[in-house]
Amino acid sequence: MDKKKVYSGIRATGRLHLGNYFGAVKGMLQLQDKYDCVFSVVDLHAITTPYDPNTLKQNVRDVILDYLAAGLDPEKCLIEIQSSVPEHTELAYLLSTIYPVSRLEDLPTYKDKKVQYPKYINMGLLFYPVLMAADILLYKAEFVPVGIDQEPHLEVTREIARKFNQMFGQTFPEPQRFKSDGEYVPSLTGEGKMSKTIEGSFILLTDDLATIKYRLAAVPTDSGKLGGEVPKTGGIATLFSLLRLFERDDLYKKYEQDYKEGNIKYSEMKKEIADVIFNTLKPIQQKRAKLEDSFDLNEMIEKHTQICREVANQTLTQVKQEMGLI
Ligand code: ADP
Repeated sequence: MDKKKVYSGIRATGRLHLGNYFGAVKGMLQLQDKYDCVFSVVDLHAITTPYDPNTLKQNVRDVILDYLAAGLDPEKCLIEIQSSVPEHTELAYLLSTIYPVSRLEDLPTYKDKKVQYPKYINMGLLFYPVLMAADILLYKAEFVPVGIDQEPHLEVTREIARKFNQMFGQTFPEPQRFKSDGEYVPSLTGEGKMSKTIEGSFILLTDDLATIKYRLAAVPTDSGKLGGEVPKTGGIATLFSLLRLFERDDLYKKYEQDYKEGNIKYSEMKKEIADVIFNTLKPIQQKRAKLEDSFDLNEMIEKHTQICREVANQTLTQVKQEMGLI
């Protein structure tokens, strides 16, 4: 019981991609051996952007399968579906009463989403960081393995924890982001980050070699004859980042040299990157196929949900007492 607590979640907006893997899952894998971890499929966050109710449950299942295939061990960590633990939303409401609207309106993540979905600017989107704070604080987590894009939300979480502690007594730790080497995986489009909800930006953990090649073929490059330093942004930078992420410094150096000399062949580079990526993903895909055939997801989720709810209830009861509600 005195082990440090860890919480992280991924939205149920589709299968996991390399950004999710390097930014979040790799950190989860490191932490599950040492700490009390809850890893969530955050379906309530997924419905804040346009989605199809008919495929939501399948998306949840896909994220769980990807989690397990990538190495999360249900004997070592708890896996929950956010909406099955209603304490998340109840705590979020309580915490929302101590946090200013103006701070939420100023967050870069909210502003970005408003631009991405100008016809879908809903209350849930604005409320997202408060629910995320509740997700984490419900389990009194100290470490949160997420990508760098989530740092503003973690800052909100810390502010809420601090304010709550000041107003009602010491209750919550101020959680820190657990950083991994892949805290920012750039988009294949060469602009912004890789994301499930940005078409053409991602490579999925479940992509076969042909699909990986097809997706990489669309990465924008140049004539290959410019020479000079490797660009820091754009599609070419993304290709080089992928070599770094997959720890292929040998190939990185080779293509860096080619680039400098103005004789880089992107088709060859992309083919090599595709092979490197697929070699890492293949065992994950094989494990996923086995799980799909033989693993009882429902039974695991039911068991884990029960444990999560017990912990969640303790926190919620404490918070309600401190706030004078019970
Ligand atoms: P998406 O943007 O693909 O829908 P989520 O918002 O569900 O992903 O994020 C799930 C986790 O994956 C978070 O921890 C987030 O920081 C991480 N993540 C998402 N995209 C990237 C990326 N491109 N690079 C690093 N981490 C990422």
